[in-house]
Amino acid sequence: MNRVYNFSSGPAQLPLDVLAKAQAEMLDYKGTGMSVMEMSHRSAAYKDVIETAEKNLRALYNISDEYAVLFLQGGASLQFSMVPMNLKKTGSADFIDSGYWSQKAIKEAKKYLNVRTVCSTKEENFNSLPNFDGINFEGDYVYMTSNNTIYGTEFKRYPKTGNIPLVADMSSDILSRKIDVNDFGIIFAGAQKNIGPSGLCVVIIRKDLIGNAAETTPIMLDYKTHSENGSMYNTPPTYGIYVAGLVFEWMLAQGGVEAFEKINAEKAAMVYDLIDNSSFYSNTIPADDRSLMNVVFKTPSEDLDKKFAKDAAAKGLISLGGHRAVGGLRASIYNAMPIVGVKALVEFMKDFELANK
Ligand SMILES: *Cc1c(COP(=O)(O)O)cnc(C)c1O
Repeated sequence: MNRVYNFSSGPAQLPLDVLAKAQAEMLDYKGTGMSVMEMSHRSAAYKDVIETAEKNLRALYNISDEYAVLFLQGGASLQFSMVPMNLKKTGSADFIDSGYWSQKAIKEAKKYLNVRTVCSTKEENFNSLPNFDGINFEGDYVYMTSNNTIYGTEFKRYPKTGNIPLVADMSSDILSRKIDVNDFGIIFAGAQKNIGPSGLCVVIIRKDLIGNAAETTPIMLDYKTHSENGSMYNTPPTYGIYVAGLVFEWMLAQGGVEAFEKINAEKAAMVYDLIDNSSFYSNTIPADDRSLMNVVFKTPSEDLDKKFAKDAAAKGLISLGGHRAVGGLRASIYNAMPIVGVKALVEFMKDFELANK
């Protein structure tokens, strides 16, 4: 077996321990004589899978009973529609525009309500974070993308929005560092970056925000449907939830979010230090705005960027090309990327610089 280090922005590398456990349990899950994939979602065995997953996520983030945890489908992108459909009251909402994914959410929200873009760094191609200090938020909710997967920026603090619910797309930095869930109305995350297989979306929602959708809202897009039915109104993405549960269990065994926060800071520092001490690699994002999950960088030329990604892949360090919207290079180093993987990347970067400068 020859496992690569996968620096893809998502679907991303999963912890080897989790894959091994899923493999060991594949053919006969805990004496049921079948895999989790083949099991009725109404069975006692599966009830335990989903309930344990929820319990462990609650433990990781210290989520109180005031919040519901939902395991939904449609990825993170469906939340771009579900959030406005469920939270619309007066008909306007404030958006913090920090790039590609915020803009997708804005575009969709505009179908349902009046979008006020309260700050944006569009003018500088999202190479830094917009400043939300001093903004007088209004409307039904405030929306932000906590980590900008494509641009490599990440909010390390969040706006104080008072009585207005703060909604955060945390797809690419959920569970990577400590947060206070109570600061948010809704947190959602597509699973394929920091949690598990794609398709699944984890939604953490304050219970008072459930049950306000318009009559005409499709039943599958109403949070109430899913919260009343324990995410089992219809057949949920059973296997994805199972793997997510294994990841939560693995995280707890490693010391929880606090432990990952520490390792993630170390991992990111290794790459940023190398970039900052080199005249070959560059990253022009202000230090405070840099993402600990997605490190974007460039070599002196587009041709060298391409060569970098190709040569790295030949060494088992794959998917280092930047997003097609921005080019350059990007190392996504989520929770499941071990420190040895980052060390291997840093060594490769040093060798590549020597050979190509
Ligand atoms: C990947 C990503 C998405 C899209 O997730 P899907 O599950 O593919 O819909 C949305 N927001 C952010 C911040 C992402 O990184």
